[in-house]
Amino acid sequence: MARALMIGAGGVASVCAHKCVQNHEVFTELCIASRTLSKCQALKDQLDGKGTEITIAQLDADNTDDVISLIEQYKPDIVINLALPYQDLSIMDACLATKTHYLDTANYEPEDTAKFEYKWQWAYRERFEKAGITGILGSGFDPGVTSVFSAYALKHYFDEIHYIDILDCNAGDNGYPFATNFNPEINIREVSAKGSYWENGEWIETEPMEIKRVYDFPQVGEKSMYLLHHEELESLALNITGIRRIRFFMTFSESYLTHLKCLENVGMTSIEPILFQGMEIVPLQFLKAVLPDPASLGPLTKGKTNIGCIFHGVKDGVEKSYYVYNVCDHEETYKEVGSQAVSYTTGVPAMIGAMLVVTGQWARPGVYNVEEFDPDAFMEALNQWGLPWVEDFSPTPVE
Ligand code: NDP
Repeated sequence: MARALMIGAGGVASVCAHKCVQNHEVFTELCIASRTLSKCQALKDQLDGKGTEITIAQLDADNTDDVISLIEQYKPDIVINLALPYQDLSIMDACLATKTHYLDTANYEPEDTAKFEYKWQWAYRERFEKAGITGILGSGFDPGVTSVFSAYALKHYFDEIHYIDILDCNAGDNGYPFATNFNPEINIREVSAKGSYWENGEWIETEPMEIKRVYDFPQVGEKSMYLLHHEELESLALNITGIRRIRFFMTFSESYLTHLKCLENVGMTSIEPILFQGMEIVPLQFLKAVLPDPASLGPLTKGKTNIGCIFHGVKDGVEKSYYVYNVCDHEETYKEVGSQAVSYTTGVPAMIGAMLVVTGQWARPGVYNVEEFDPDAFMEALNQWGLPWVEDFSPTPVE
């Protein structure tokens, strides 16, 4: 039925490819294109003969003309961008030039400034609309599922949502003293940045890791979590009716934070280039090169993730709370698709979002965040494709 071009062959892309192949009635053809062809080949070797016709291509997605050529040659119905946030705009430009639907899981971030915002991608709205193509931003877990959870809560349980707390808990242990569960460069840029949250119409900025809370996560237990800025706050603050405050918390172990502080203190997390033996290098990119590849953590990681949202608002004049979350087990996802749960929880919603576009359910010309669509089909697909969710109507609030 549909032909998809997936860009990237890392942790998230690997899961998405497995899920597209499981869903081969929809994804009859898949081209895996990435910078390193051997990674595409390795994925093809795992997935050939399982129902989807797989081809591979070497591609530098920073080069719009190369992306255009590949799209013109392969003629996909959709481009699933699972490379890095730096490539979002060059790939969106190629989609515009070829009138092809677009989907990603992380918003654009210039390589030389650790600041992610939607403004660059929202600027494509009118051009996508005129071209008659759909651009879906942030169809991973957070953003992605957390955004769909918010749309679902508003549609079914609230007239107005006043408070949202997004809680992202990874209680997985990979045995390393310090390793990141997705691209280390993107992960460290995110957690070493200042925190912020939206309250009463404005952003309140905090120092990195300044706000700490302890929460007892269902099926996981008590964990320390820290307030971070996170990209879905920006779009949810605009798209969900009645918002007074929206915050994002992520759990980190003491060991992770101690290592991070130490790396920061010695300058290893900096994105300012330095001269080393006559060559310019970016310390954070060098650090990425010495850290374990997140794609290699699959067989080592044990434990669970629990990611969800706690809502508080009103329905028919009565105040109420609602918590919806997914629990995902690292060892089970490894058994199923050969990846740990952080890649899994991102790769599955990428496939689901792409499926909803190519089947026409979410096809609407323009550029959208996922909470702008009807959430029901996505919620149903989460249960079907490996990320079942749990509801709690009397959750413990976060202070
Ligand atoms: P990885 O580093 O494992 O994979 C990135 C892939 O993109 C690699 O195959 C890499 O190739 C490829 N790539 C990088 N630059 C280019 C380029 N210029 N042209 C073509 N291919 C390129 O990252 P993850 O799989 O962990 O993350 C993928 C995306 O998912 C990221 O944008 C990340 O921010 C996002 N994400 C979103 C989450 C969510 O919940 N919304 C959660 C986790 C991640 P090479 O192997 O050659 O380096």
